[in-house]
Amino acid sequence: MENVDVVIVGSSVAGLMTAAYLKQQLPTLQVIVLGPSPEHERRPYVGESLVEPAALFMQEIGLRDYLNSTQMTKHGLSFYHKIKPDDPRDRRYSVHAPHRLHHTAWQLHRPDVDRALRARAAELGVRLVTGRMHDCEIGTAATGHRVHARVGESAVAFSCRWLIDATGRTRRIGKKVTTYTRPAERQRSCFWFWLADFEPFLPHLEITLRRPLAYDLWQTTHHFLGQGYWIWGIPLATRDHQRLISMGITLRPDLFSYPMRSLEDFLAMVDQQHPALGRMVRSGKVLDTNVYHEYLYWSDQAYSAEGWFLVGDAARAVDPLYSNGLSLTTVQAQQIAALIQRQREGVLGPGDVEAMDTVWRRFMAREQGDISRYYEVMQDPFQACLRRYWNVGGWFNAFLPLWWNGFFSVPLAARLLTRFFREQDPAVESAWRLFAQAAEALGPEPAPADFARVPELDWMINLRFDCPKEEVPKHLARAFWKRIRMRLALLRMERYRHVGEQLPALAREMALIFFLRCLFPWVGRRAFAALKPPLPRCAAVSARDYPAQADFQRPVKQAALRAH
Ligand SMILES: Cc1cc2nc3c(=O)[nH]c(=O)nc-3n(C[C@H](O)[C@H](O)[C@H](O)COP(=O)(O)OP(=O)(O)OC[C@H]3O[C@@H](n4cnc5c(N)ncnc54)[C@H](O)[C@@H]3O)c2cc1C
Repeated sequence: MENVDVVIVGSSVAGLMTAAYLKQQLPTLQVIVLGPSPEHERRPYVGESLVEPAALFMQEIGLRDYLNSTQMTKHGLSFYHKIKPDDPRDRRYSVHAPHRLHHTAWQLHRPDVDRALRARAAELGVRLVTGRMHDCEIGTAATGHRVHARVGESAVAFSCRWLIDATGRTRRIGKKVTTYTRPAERQRSCFWFWLADFEPFLPHLEITLRRPLAYDLWQTTHHFLGQGYWIWGIPLATRDHQRLISMGITLRPDLFSYPMRSLEDFLAMVDQQHPALGRMVRSGKVLDTNVYHEYLYWSDQAYSAEGWFLVGDAARAVDPLYSNGLSLTTVQAQQIAALIQRQREGVLGPGDVEAMDTVWRRFMAREQGDISRYYEVMQDPFQACLRRYWNVGGWFNAFLPLWWNGFFSVPLAARLLTRFFREQDPAVESAWRLFAQAAEALGPEPAPADFARVPELDWMINLRFDCPKEEVPKHLARAFWKRIRMRLALLRMERYRHVGEQLPALAREMALIFFLRCLFPWVGRRAFAALKPPLPRCAAVSARDYPAQADFQRPVKQAALRAH
């Protein structure tokens, strides 16, 4: 039996990302990835859109030039809110997308990108073993673990100190070492397909944007919203077709009243609500179709001090509304590397593993919880827009600066976060009520100009989150300042009828600003001193021009205009 440091079972994106990162950060570690070759892969592909953490991670491990030269650039997420969702003749959409982002990303043609990831992992010294695990024996930190595999015609066994499950939804190791929760309420189902050689939908919509974009709107990840569902369109780079797009629908079955198991079901639905999409699908060639029914789950434990870890879909399935599945995998790969390094150096403290596990789980639970409830207002253009601003404001102003500086991958900092960061955000209910009250004040059909009366996306997100650690408290405080500004703007819109209801939340947000600016750096001084950016190469590059591009720090002047 061959003995190695790490065996990763599963050779798709999560396994390869983790392997490449481990090898880059800890070059003397022996890492094996066990899984089928790309030609024998049987999993369905989505065609993922990347957001900041995963996009920067790919650059860190050396794939920037490859992605720039072969994949479709993604300038951000665009959201299409139909003004009269149930009227097939109404072609008006209020569209929201960032003016431009500091960190652009890519939309991945996964089969091609997985091959490039394999090649890069091998270049970094990862050993790729083509085969399948048929059993494993879970030991302890002292004894290690064993993996039994079939490689070609031979039976092969490995022993290892660390074992990582990256087997996706099959969760081959996860099912042995932990339990999984499947939410009984607010589940999610999806149907999707790849479409080639089609005529894009854009010319058939009447679109209102708040300002001209600094790029072609087509180069975004498109989201259409409606009653209990959203539809994605992810344009992909292709050598074999004139155009290619991954398109699909994610829905909450308890709120969505159409059957959704086939292309015919999809077309019947979009013909009623977004006829331009039906027209686009009929103009092209459908290459494949896939369905996941009620697919959400999460593991009750993802890391163990005994030396096993679950990563990617082996740890949890997510709702992909904000395209952050691979970004969560990025966070996990960094945490796993930090834990292995500490265990290897004999400095893993009691509670370190639990702190890392808890911090990503809390963040995910809060974000996914917000998304689950988001379906309840997706058909209401104004409310849906506001809730999203609120959520992405938290992502850009809080999560990203924290992640960038290592709050999720340094145990002391993870502990600090878990002290203050709860699974439920106590402020959301009052904010959501206010969004509903403001929407009601506007009436059933908001005018395009109404969307320009509230603080908007670019003001919420167009900032350099890749800040030095000393600036993190300022960024966090800014998140609450933006929330206050949003509440005040909405109160003005609904003529202060519900101001009393908002006062406790406003007072709390003011107090949090004070705490974050004045006390947090002192309370967390040991954690701040221990911080280490998880992407050191990217951090070195960004430090050279931060904050030179000052326009990313300032709100962009607002303007309403009609685009197409
Ligand atoms: C509808 C939808 C849309 C999404 N959109 C996005 C998006 O836009 N952006 C984003 O970032 N994320 C997105 N995601 C999430 C993302 O697609 C997944 O998180 C990701 O593909 C999971 O990768 P993985 O490597 O964990 O699992 P998989 O890709 O499923 O890989 C599992 C691997 O394990 C191998 N394996 C299984 N059993 C064994 C065995 N016994 N021995 C060896 N190998 C084995 C398989 O062959 C495969 O290689 C989306 C997900 C869904 C469902």
